[in-house]
Amino acid sequence: MDDIRIQQFNEQARRLGMLTIRIPPHYQRLVREEVETLGRTDGPLYRVVYPTAGRTDSKADHDVPDFVEDRTNMPSGLESLLIHKYHNRALFLVTDVCAGHCMYCFRQDVLTDLHARELQAPEKRLDAVIAYLKDHPQVTEVILSGGDPLSVPFRHLERIMSRLDTETAVRDIRIHTRNIVFSPKVMSERVCELIGRYRVRLYLHLIHPYEIAEPVVKGITRLKFYGVRLYSQFPILRGINDRCEVLERLIRMMDDLGITPVNLFVPDPINYSAPFRIPMKRLFSLMDNLYWRTSSWNNSAHLVLDTPIGKVRREDIADWDEGNGLIIFRREGKTVTYHDFPGESDIPGDLETLLWKG
Ligand code: SF4
Repeated sequence: MDDIRIQQFNEQARRLGMLTIRIPPHYQRLVREEVETLGRTDGPLYRVVYPTAGRTDSKADHDVPDFVEDRTNMPSGLESLLIHKYHNRALFLVTDVCAGHCMYCFRQDVLTDLHARELQAPEKRLDAVIAYLKDHPQVTEVILSGGDPLSVPFRHLERIMSRLDTETAVRDIRIHTRNIVFSPKVMSERVCELIGRYRVRLYLHLIHPYEIAEPVVKGITRLKFYGVRLYSQFPILRGINDRCEVLERLIRMMDDLGITPVNLFVPDPINYSAPFRIPMKRLFSLMDNLYWRTSSWNNSAHLVLDTPIGKVRREDIADWDEGNGLIIFRREGKTVTYHDFPGESDIPGDLETLLWKG
């Protein structure tokens, strides 16, 4: 994509509340190799970071800006800082910055909103979160998210962990990051040591086997050296990893590196997510295939949909009106309606394109 088209897309994206194109050099190299090998721009890594044709006009009926309704769980005074949805867990939006931008990002709405605001100084944000956690000692796990928490300067990251550890009732810290695939140098010796020192659980968002390039393997090996427990969760995305062979290979590579897959996500039905969405029946069929074709270590992750009432699974389906594409999930007495992606708009990824290295 040339500079002029990138600029045009970025201007349109800002107007529509979408993330702009942002690709760090390491990931750019992976994409270049893919485009040169395929001779086309429909490969999986390209689709992660560049807009597909018609990106800004592809909409499914009933798409919304924020399906999970993150804002309703932000305590007053902590808007854009903390999401307290579950009794004992809270999500701290440490930063609005990511090393790269994913076209499929489920949090586009909140992130672009944060980008448009002038955020308080990081220390002030941390003070406010610590004060809230002191008042809510039932919160024993904090998930550092964002943006990407590994985008913040080392000293601030160290301060966050130290203050959570010494000033609050938090026993478990989790970090969700994708920076390792965008910019593997973030896994420096001192960052790995820090994460190990505070016994942080690290959730790596790896979505395609080719993202596990050599510098990423080195970073993961360094994390293992410091005893960091590694997990993964990722969405199943059309044209990126929506074939059983791709999922199987990704999970096998993660297993070789000591990463435990926990959740595979149904893409959120948010604005402009149509190019990545998959009908629920095909998602279930992908999971069934993964289950039957592979060993238990390879198929123990759950398919989940994040919703305003929490994460729901297949067994939480209370009603499914296939004719109208409506699925009702029930969890703990609460229900949520999900508008399925229409089967006729679903063009599954081509296996040879998805696994272009063979
Ligand atoms: S790294 Fe995560 S938060 Fe950032 S753009 Fe990608 S999916 Fe969204």
